[in-house]
Amino acid sequence: MNEFTESPERQALRREVAKLAGTFGREWFTERARAGEKTTDLWLEIGRLGYLGINIPEEYGGGGGGIGDIAAVCEELAAQGCPLLLMVVSPAICGTILSRYGTEEQKRRWLPGICDGTGTMAFAITEPDAGTNTHNITTTARRDGDGWVLNGRKIYISGVDEADHVLVVARTEDARTGKLKPVLFVVPTDAQGFEARPIPMEIVSPELQFQVFIDDVRLADDAVVGDEDGGLVQLFAGLNPERIMAASFSTGLARFALERAASYAKERTVFQGPIGSHQAIAHPLAQSKIEIELARLMTQKAAALYDAGDDMGAGEAANMAKYAAAEAACDAADRAVQTHGGNGITQEYGMAGLLVATRAGRIAPVSREMILNFVAMHSLGLPKSY
Ligand SMILES: Cc1cc2nc3c(=O)[nH]c(=O)nc-3n(C[C@H](O)[C@H](O)[C@H](O)COP(=O)(O)OP(=O)(O)OC[C@H]3O[C@@H](n4cnc5c(N)ncnc54)[C@H](O)[C@@H]3O)c2cc1C
Repeated sequence: MNEFTESPERQALRREVAKLAGTFGREWFTERARAGEKTTDLWLEIGRLGYLGINIPEEYGGGGGGIGDIAAVCEELAAQGCPLLLMVVSPAICGTILSRYGTEEQKRRWLPGICDGTGTMAFAITEPDAGTNTHNITTTARRDGDGWVLNGRKIYISGVDEADHVLVVARTEDARTGKLKPVLFVVPTDAQGFEARPIPMEIVSPELQFQVFIDDVRLADDAVVGDEDGGLVQLFAGLNPERIMAASFSTGLARFALERAASYAKERTVFQGPIGSHQAIAHPLAQSKIEIELARLMTQKAAALYDAGDDMGAGEAANMAKYAAAEAACDAADRAVQTHGGNGITQEYGMAGLLVATRAGRIAPVSREMILNFVAMHSLGLPKSY
């Protein structure tokens, strides 16, 4: 092993997860999506085997590993055609924030379920009117005796139907305007006044996005995670894991698209030799191979920096990795469709669905433009543009 190779344990983890996900596979995943069914079997199996909570401390049911481990799990699932967006949200964002800032009681209450898959937690920050500008969120928490009353709207929230709780980012009533002082609340999805409506999306996935309506939801005082005044730092704790996971989700999908394209290009023959013998087909696929490996390397660097406690270094690397991975995935999906010709847009071959799935990586959880803004400002020292 050297600095540019993952540890034997990490490599073994990748092989085990790939083997397991391969027994489910892409066809199983898309059938579930088209039938309106869920991937609960796979979710509970990765929970049972300890992969789901691999980044969470052992005393709360996790594996005691790092973001690099959970990112490897996320990537290998996607590389077998079973991308699970809730991995980004439940163990990586919510799991990290709770592990770092939850009280002992909160950790014992919520982390074991996140680890074994029986207590999935969604994450809600995006709002219809604030969009990318999360400083403008208006979901508001008002003190009410010993507890809180929450009101607001959220949009594009993934997996609310599969979650028992949602970690909701709000602001307190006395900080309704001005610079955001976020407060994080764990809200049960069956709370009175909490409603989630699915948004019809073009992504072929069993995991859905929701519009969330929060009307006078009453919460106990211990629904607040961490310090009421330190919410921004706590929120940032979830951002690097989110980006590293999103990058892994994209590189996994990109590997899946490329692998399918290369196999097809070796078999399909219409003139002399398989279509992969023509450079017009081979070169774009080779280009994708290079772009994916570069994105993977940057993702692994970001994870290594994060796990070593270098939050600043991890921030820059995680943004760059997320950007590179989303670009590599969009291009790989497009090239995979082209390689398949007409078959590329049939449901049977399932390539066209990857166009939208990979495209989402340029928008969420942070858009391509906001990453370019980050790099322009923080890496190049250019003036803030917004
Ligand atoms: C599949 C999917 C799953 C999601 N899951 C979740 C979830 O679980 N929880 C959650 O909270 N959110 C979730 N989101 C929301 C996601 O994080 C937002 O869609 C994203 O942050 C962009 O916000 P917006 O859609 O409101 O776009 P807008 O903010 O309206 O932006 C529109 C466009 O303008 C660009 N833009 C805006 N401001 C600037 C600027 N200053 N400079 C340059 N360009 C700019 C953006 O980059 C974007 O391209 C999900 C979204 C999708 C698509």
